[in-house]
Amino acid sequence: MKLESQILSARWIVPVTSEPIHGGWVEIDDGQVVAFGSGPAPRSAKDLGDIAVLPGLVNAHTHLEFSDCSEMVGFPGISLPEWIGQVVRTRRATAEPGRSDAIERGIRECARTGTCLIGEISTPPCNYPSQLDTVDLISFAEVLGLSSERGRERLDVAKAHLGLNACTGVSPHAPYSTSQETLEACLQLAHAKHRSLAMHVAESPHERELLERGVGPFAEALKLMGVWRDDLFPWPKNPFLWLIEQLARAPRSLVIHANDLNEAEIVKLAEYPHMTVVYCPRTHHFFQYESHPVAKMLSHGVRVALGTDSRASNPDLNLWSEAQFLWQHRSDLVPESVLRMATWSGSEALGRDDLGCIRPGALAKLGFVRSTASTEQELFCDFATHDYTPLGDLLC
Ligand SMILES: [Zn+2]
Repeated sequence: MKLESQILSARWIVPVTSEPIHGGWVEIDDGQVVAFGSGPAPRSAKDLGDIAVLPGLVNAHTHLEFSDCSEMVGFPGISLPEWIGQVVRTRRATAEPGRSDAIERGIRECARTGTCLIGEISTPPCNYPSQLDTVDLISFAEVLGLSSERGRERLDVAKAHLGLNACTGVSPHAPYSTSQETLEACLQLAHAKHRSLAMHVAESPHERELLERGVGPFAEALKLMGVWRDDLFPWPKNPFLWLIEQLARAPRSLVIHANDLNEAEIVKLAEYPHMTVVYCPRTHHFFQYESHPVAKMLSHGVRVALGTDSRASNPDLNLWSEAQFLWQHRSDLVPESVLRMATWSGSEALGRDDLGCIRPGALAKLGFVRSTASTEQELFCDFATHDYTPLGDLLC
């Protein structure tokens, strides 16, 4: 819903790209923020009372086609190769109309819970609703295949997807499912078309076993599926350092998960400001991995955004719940950093400087959290426990 032209005042205005304002206002004109400030509004304002006004949330990684999953696939602590096997079997049973319905359902869920921008991995050809409601979408065409034929086939479909509009990118799926030959073709495509690239990287320790030594549960699963190739694994020395350098060749890269990157690899990532790690806290928790190195990444200056991943590994697509999970469980993170990861960092990752913040020129896609806080510390305590709601719901 496009907000009417007006000035709104509230107990808190939280622009994210600047300090929270206790007792502030924001002026909206034709769906855009034109000004904001502290103290009395410059002319008559609608007082929203005891709430904090925030920018819209950004979900930098999900797979909308699984949004019809009523429950997660597998069980907590399941190994990634086993989970993938179960997902593939579930997915085969879903016909095309079902996939379109699932995508629409996912978009609605994101909009309802305050997400204004989604980074979504798709399996093209796929249908998006012509009216996306209040949500903007960047759709990354997934490419995978260990054989040259399969890789070329998926790449051709991805090229057609990129021809649809500018809000598309390419996603070589993961190192265990995508040959270096196909990865190279994806990088060249992203470069030629000036598009973003997203890849699942270092999601599970089993991925490192496969790339460094050519063994482990991924190797076993690939052999069972009949797609193993002796010439593809292990990768040459320091595979993740090499992979980070390759992904840096794209105009903009999203490194999805990065649960298992070590310090040297994080330092390498920090060399590239056009790369972003997307951390999916509750999906990470579902698989019961070791603690995510998000604090180390932030301390080295790596940009980190948040994602939900899909409903196949997460209970819902509510991005605020990801942030709340961190406020409740990761006391080693500065609360303000978590809010930034849930908003502005995702916008930067997806190449949108007009969402995920409150400042002149940004779209007025805003939300609110009820709060009677008098200090920033109290404010973030409220964020950790209170729901986030799209601001349009309060104004209509
Ligand atoms: Zn994913």
